[in-house]
Amino acid sequence: MGLVVQKYGGSSVADAEGIKRVAKRIVESKKNGNQVVAVVSAMGDSTDELIDLAEQVSPIPAGRELDMLLTAGERISMALLAMAIKNLGHEAQSFTGSQAGVITDSVHNKARIIDVTPGRIKTSVDEGNIAIVAGFQGVSQDNKDITTLGRGGSDTTAVALAAALDADVCEIYTDVDGVFTADPRVVKKARKMDWISFEDMLELAASGSKVLLHRCVEYARRYNIPIHVRSSFSGLPGTWVSNERPSEGGAEQVEHAIISGVAHDVSEAKVTVVGVPDKPGEAAAIFRAIADAEINIDMVVQNVSAASTGLTDISFTLPKTDGKKATSALEKIKPKVGYDSLRYDDQVAKISLVGAGMKTNPGVTAQFFEALSDAGVNIELISTSEIRISVVTRADDVLGAVQAVHTSFGLDSDSDEAVVYGGTGR
Ligand code: ASP
Ligand code: MG
Repeated sequence: MGLVVQKYGGSSVADAEGIKRVAKRIVESKKNGNQVVAVVSAMGDSTDELIDLAEQVSPIPAGRELDMLLTAGERISMALLAMAIKNLGHEAQSFTGSQAGVITDSVHNKARIIDVTPGRIKTSVDEGNIAIVAGFQGVSQDNKDITTLGRGGSDTTAVALAAALDADVCEIYTDVDGVFTADPRVVKKARKMDWISFEDMLELAASGSKVLLHRCVEYARRYNIPIHVRSSFSGLPGTWVSNERPSEGGAEQVEHAIISGVAHDVSEAKVTVVGVPDKPGEAAAIFRAIADAEINIDMVVQNVSAASTGLTDISFTLPKTDGKKATSALEKIKPKVGYDSLRYDDQVAKISLVGAGMKTNPGVTAQFFEALSDAGVNIELISTSEIRISVVTRADDVLGAVQAVHTSFGLDSDSDEAVVYGGTGR
């Protein structure tokens, strides 16, 4: 008998039918002899609807009150799910994040979990109940205010609870069959992976893959909690995310693929500071201004300066949502830095190739660029890590580019297994 933490995303509990289907699945798990803790997200798109409502009454809703509002979404689904389970003849109790012992810092709308004290959950499952926990929410250690963990935060709740309860596995149920070699919404021939390392999954999440949140994978790696990503619709085995590939019945480990997958991201914009004097301290001043505006940047590229002018251009990418803040911060330092002009471009996309195997395989970068060039895609910026190559292209090119790279690296599956069951991608 084991302890299983399961997480069900909004699309899995989108309506009464969905809630009943999830209740059945949880009961199955319990009948198989497991203790079950289920973490739920808000039904369907209800978080978006609540945000929309908040913005109708106030253009910039107060963080504390927005958290109070949004946590209501998960309360609805947890209570309904507990009722549905009881209706199947099993005992269930629902708990808010605070009741479940999810303790956070006090940063509203994107709080970090600092401790989990799941005493009540432990007691509840020990007494034979199925415990249902509202995802995405916690309580601030300092002022006891209700907090939320940032969009998609229920995954993190599940992993954090799994760690605190020393669970055997954390199952993340979603609306696709697992982690794919590319977004199955975009690449029909994307292949489901049986396994992916924490390392590669972290890079994919950081590069725009939405199936798991970066913070959730980070947490799982820190506490070494294996994650099983699977569909609540099909019941098929999904993708294991862990440190090491589980060995199959003592069989020899299959050679690790060079490339895990291709991720894309259209949520970023590109800023170019044109005509920066090529002398020490200029880049420092530019990025200090950006940092002081609390903006996280991604790629940075500086050109060699033109010999005739001694001026250079510096480009970087950042979340589109921070675009205005960044350009106004840079306008302010223009006299000090002495650059010529600013360019802001939000019609860009980032395409990334991820795989630990590229460390030891020459030619991956060349093949990546060849695939893009064969597809007629122009590269605007390039950045690399040990296990990732990313480029920025025109936003219009993103689909063609992802397809081309996916095919070039032999990732296409021969079946059309990339089924998308739900709507939101959670
Ligand atoms: N309901 C929240 C959201 O939509 C949290 C989650 O789904 O994980 O972001
Ligand atoms: Mg949601």
